[in-house]
Amino acid sequence: MAKRIGILGGTFDPVHIGHLRSALEVAEFMLLDEVRLIPNARPPHRSAPQVSAADRLAMVEQAVTGVSLLRLDDRELQRDMPSYSIDTLESLRGELADDDQLFLLLGWDAFCGLPSWHRWEELLRHSHILVLQRPDADSEAPEALRNLLAARTVSDPLALEGPGGQISFIWQTPLAVSATQIRALLARGKSVRFLVPDAVLAYINAHGLYRASN
Ligand code: ATP
Repeated sequence: MAKRIGILGGTFDPVHIGHLRSALEVAEFMLLDEVRLIPNARPPHRSAPQVSAADRLAMVEQAVTGVSLLRLDDRELQRDMPSYSIDTLESLRGELADDDQLFLLLGWDAFCGLPSWHRWEELLRHSHILVLQRPDADSEAPEALRNLLAARTVSDPLALEGPGGQISFIWQTPLAVSATQIRALLARGKSVRFLVPDAVLAYINAHGLYRASN
């Protein structure tokens, strides 16, 4: 049977319960076999992640251990430079059966920025796109995406067919947590307990990550 695989890219500096709940809820709702969490190298125009790639990978690994629907995929950090999403999708496709289904998870803001992505029009050749939208959002898509949305949108995300090529929306209320907030708390010596899984907290403490002196 064709596999159904979700993809969630991020800096994960550090991974937190917002990422994990979102990925798990999508996996369960969409009846996915797994969601791959793919830590990114940060592109040059953004500030560098505060901790090493090895630490970010290790924290995601800790977070998904024992969670059968979530998996770490380290392919983007095996290279020295930031990967384009199209390269990641091509690389994933190279390992999958032709009829396996890929679902790229994107927040609304990221989705609106799509036209600036390298070879963005080819993304749908390899994957569906699931846009995660806040229930209270009333945003309008940029002009450059209107035709694509008109041609490719399927209203029921469970009705997306084939290995890729379609777009659908999932309404989801994100937990009010961000990695920025977690880094700021740790830098001030505050607790981030319950914002990250206990195993991630243990890793952060054991390695003294995000302390003001780092
Ligand atoms: P930072 O605060 O450093 O910008 P972040 O918390 O937004 O980080 P990222 O690693 O940049 O985390 O996010 C990876 C993906 O997870 C993005 O698609 C982002 O939209 C999504 N995401 C981030 N925070 C949440 C959250 N609280 N709930 C659901 N999804 C989230």
